[in-house]
Amino acid sequence: MIMNDGKWVFDIILPMGTYEYKYIIDGVWRCDTLGERDTLDERDTLDERDTLAEPIRLASGERDTLAEPIRLASGERDTNSSVVKEKSGVINNITSVIPPNTLRIVHISDTHSLFYDTLPEGDVLIHSGDFSTDGQPGEYALFNDWLSRQKYPHKIITLGNHDQYYMNREEVFDPLGESKKMISNGTILNSEMVEINGFKIYGFQWAGTEEKPKCPNDHNIPYGTDVIVTHQPPYGILDDYAGSTLLMASIQRVMPKYHLFGHVHQFYGEQYMCWGDKGTTFLNSTSVDRYGKKIIHSPSFIYLTK
Ligand SMILES: [Zn+2]
Repeated sequence: MIMNDGKWVFDIILPMGTYEYKYIIDGVWRCDTLGERDTLDERDTLDERDTLAEPIRLASGERDTLAEPIRLASGERDTNSSVVKEKSGVINNITSVIPPNTLRIVHISDTHSLFYDTLPEGDVLIHSGDFSTDGQPGEYALFNDWLSRQKYPHKIITLGNHDQYYMNREEVFDPLGESKKMISNGTILNSEMVEINGFKIYGFQWAGTEEKPKCPNDHNIPYGTDVIVTHQPPYGILDDYAGSTLLMASIQRVMPKYHLFGHVHQFYGEQYMCWGDKGTTFLNSTSVDRYGKKIIHSPSFIYLTK
């Protein structure tokens, strides 16, 4: 455990290798003891909830959040809620009942056809793009297969620039449409919002860093959004000055609790900005090294509360 810029960073030895494990609770580093992998379960204690021992009992009249599927844009498939609804209690050691007004997000980005063996538990897995290197269908299939083995009730993906290379070369393909068909084990967001347990998550695919967004709705982000997911960083934040100024303006307008992204591999990290009495935590959760050859970073863990 080391103190880095005034915040604690933990090193945990996992069976398949060493990971630097960042642990964030609503923008604040709270844990003071985490050691070997099996102590990850201590998060439940630290979070003051026992998610594995028994399902959370809702007070009568209280809304069962799982009964309500994720609200997706009309016409879009809801791939995950049926899985959750089919089973009750614990699904493969992951509770399917998300306590009211909380959400545990595990965020990764830029894995480039490399795969984590182990990820922290959570309610939502978010991959903010560049799961592939060349956007080949085979890479999509590998990623989709890996996704199927990740035990999260919800999985959200935004496409990165690498995920579209191949499909953009093949005129017969519609990159976004084909991607949504190929990724059957997660929900690809493209200028869309999902609401999970009362938290609003909005994402869009790679739009370049140019001033003019690729899609007119790219930056039509509703007020009240809790988490924004994009592949590209906003200008000036963990971006090596390769981010989008338009996106930065959108963030300043919406003031989400979190903005999750990747793209600039060498700028993995966290930054926080205040907007008056609100603030946004920015996370570049790139997983690989600068050249995309090896996973060297830990996933980010976010604990959202109302
Ligand atoms: Zn990348």
